[in-house]
This record gives sequence, C-alpha cells and structure tokens, in this order.
Amino acid sequence: MAAKILDGKQVAAEMRAEMKVEVERLKAEHNLTPGLAVVLVGEDPASISYVRGKRKACDEIGIYSREHHLPEDYEEDKLISLLEELNQDPDIHGILVQLPLPKHIDEEKVLLAIDPTKDVDGFHPMNVGRMVIGKPTFLPCTPHGVQQLLLRSGIEIEGKHVVIVGRSNIVGKPLANILLQKKPGANATVTICHTGTKDLAHHTRQADILVVAAGRPNTVTADMVSEGVVVVDVGVNRVEDPTKKSGYRLVGDVDFEAVKEKASAISPVPGGVGPMTITLLLYNTIQAAKMQRGLA
Ligand code: NAP
Repeated sequence: MAAKILDGKQVAAEMRAEMKVEVERLKAEHNLTPGLAVVLVGEDPASISYVRGKRKACDEIGIYSREHHLPEDYEEDKLISLLEELNQDPDIHGILVQLPLPKHIDEEKVLLAIDPTKDVDGFHPMNVGRMVIGKPTFLPCTPHGVQQLLLRSGIEIEGKHVVIVGRSNIVGKPLANILLQKKPGANATVTICHTGTKDLAHHTRQADILVVAAGRPNTVTADMVSEGVVVVDVGVNRVEDPTKKSGYRLVGDVDFEAVKEKASAISPVPGGVGPMTITLLLYNTIQAAKMQRGLA
C-alpha cells in the first residue's frame, strides 16, 4: 500500500486559515493586532530568505511584523539595547532573533535578553524549563510543528514508540520533551539517538514513529525501518543538481523514494515540516498577544 503523504503545506494552510479568523476576531473584539519583531544580523542568504518567509506569512494572516536588519558588525551591546526596547514596546508581542548570529555576538546572552513573555521561539531557558516540566509556555516551533503535523494528519501519538534521530536544542531535545509529557497528543515512549548511539538501525527499526533531524542526506535508508512505520523528515539539505536553474535541490535526511515503500506515512522535503515551523511561530505570536492582554 502506498504511504500516506504527511502534507505540511496543506496542514499549515488549514492552521493559517484558522489563525486568520482568530486575528480578525482579536482586532474586532479587542482592538488587538498581534505584532512580531524579527531581528536579523548580517547577510546570511538562508537567514534572509527565512526572514522574508516569516514576514510574508505574518502579512497573510494579518499579524503586524517589523524587521530589524542590522549590519554584520553590529555590536552586541547595541543589539541587547534594541531587544530591551522591543521588550517595552506595546505593539510588539513576539521577538525573534534569527540564528545563527555572527561569531562576535554571544548567542546565550542575546536569548537571555528577550523578555520570556515575548520569546516566541521558545529558546529562553525559562521557557525551556517550563516546557520540560510540562507547564504552559511557548513551544519551539519546529518540534511543535512536527507534533501538529502528526496529529492533524490523523496519526495517534499516545502510547507509541517515537524514535528521534538528533538531539539538538532546537529540534531533537525539545521534541522528546513535548512528546513524553503525560498529556493528550503526547504521552509517547521516546528514544533519542545521536552520533554516540551504537547501532542506529537497531533503534530506528523499533520505531512506530521515526523523526529524523540529523542534517545529513540518507541518514535513514529503507533497511533501517520496519513495515508500517510513520516517518517525519525534519532535515533540509542542499544537494547539487545540474538540472535545476539554481544548481541544487533540497532533500531531507531520509531516502524518501525507498522508505516510502515500507512506511505507512511519510513527510516529504520540501513541503513537510518546513511550512509547519513558520505556522507555529504565527501561533506563538498570537498566543503572546493574548497572554499580554490577559486573554489567554
Ligand atoms: P544539528 O544541531 O546539527 O543536530 C543534528 C543532530 O543529529 C545531532 O544531535 C547529531 O548528533 C545527530 N546526528 C547527525 N548525524 C547523525 C548520524 N549519522 N546518526 C545519528 N545521529 C546523527 O541540527 P538541527 O539544527 O537539529 O537540524 C537538523 C536538520 O533539520 C538540519 O537539516 C536542519 O536544516 C533541519 N531543520 C529544519 C527545520 C525546518 O523547519 N524544516 C528547522 C530546524 C532544522 P550529535 O549530537 O552526537 O552530534
């Protein structure tokens, strides 16, 4: 049987349509327009493209967005001062600093400077702690997007064995924490694999749901999965492709064509987790606006 495609574009479009209605309601009933400030330092082309995508997504659903594009050599102290201003700005409910930052800026110091109630990326240590102990907080957008993609595609998570390949602070670790909470839509048994894992294939074959966030093409091949597994591919890798105008194409971390023959469901790259990440950023911005107004 052909694998069901976990269509992130479609699920993201559904969520954005719901959020558009919510933003209209907040404007009409509470005179409240959720606002997001995105801070970008330097000229990294991938970061510029992500920031453009975020602005476009905000525009589409009626969220006010403001971009602070700062030069590569911008001083750390000045960046912290800008964040302090944004923390006080009543029109701004969410603040996002696009990572990675140039080497001369201490990323941890910058993340600590964001007011936790405006930390829509969910990277402030206070919000990370709240996530771990299961308190309401801003969940990091990519792992939250993975959970929503599964649930809204009709995939049950409770009681399942979820195997995650990758333990980064932005994907693997928060995803494990989200899915092991004793809560509806979670309550899974979670295994995390990484480069120190001895026999990766042994673990990936045990998965009911396999999430791969390793950042390397073909990390998971067909021999590494069991029949009927649900696969979510978080990876985004550029591989050379002379047939494309750009000279490259995007692939995930999973050998999609071969693995889809064994899986019951699988997410593609592009069009899987990617559109979900921005969508959950919009969700967090709306939540932030409601919380700051005492509506959530
Ligand atoms: P990262 O910080 O580089 O972490 C990669 C993780 O995978 C590490 O924990 C590493 O183990 C593990 N790993 C790498 N190769 C492995 C292997 N062969 N076997 C087992 N474990 C392996 O990457 P990240 O930031 O989490 O991102 C992962 C991928 O997701 C990247 O392709 C990134 O572009 C993509 N991504 C996509 C989105 C989206 O919105 N679609 C968002 C974020 C990230 P160690 O810890 O032992 O080194």
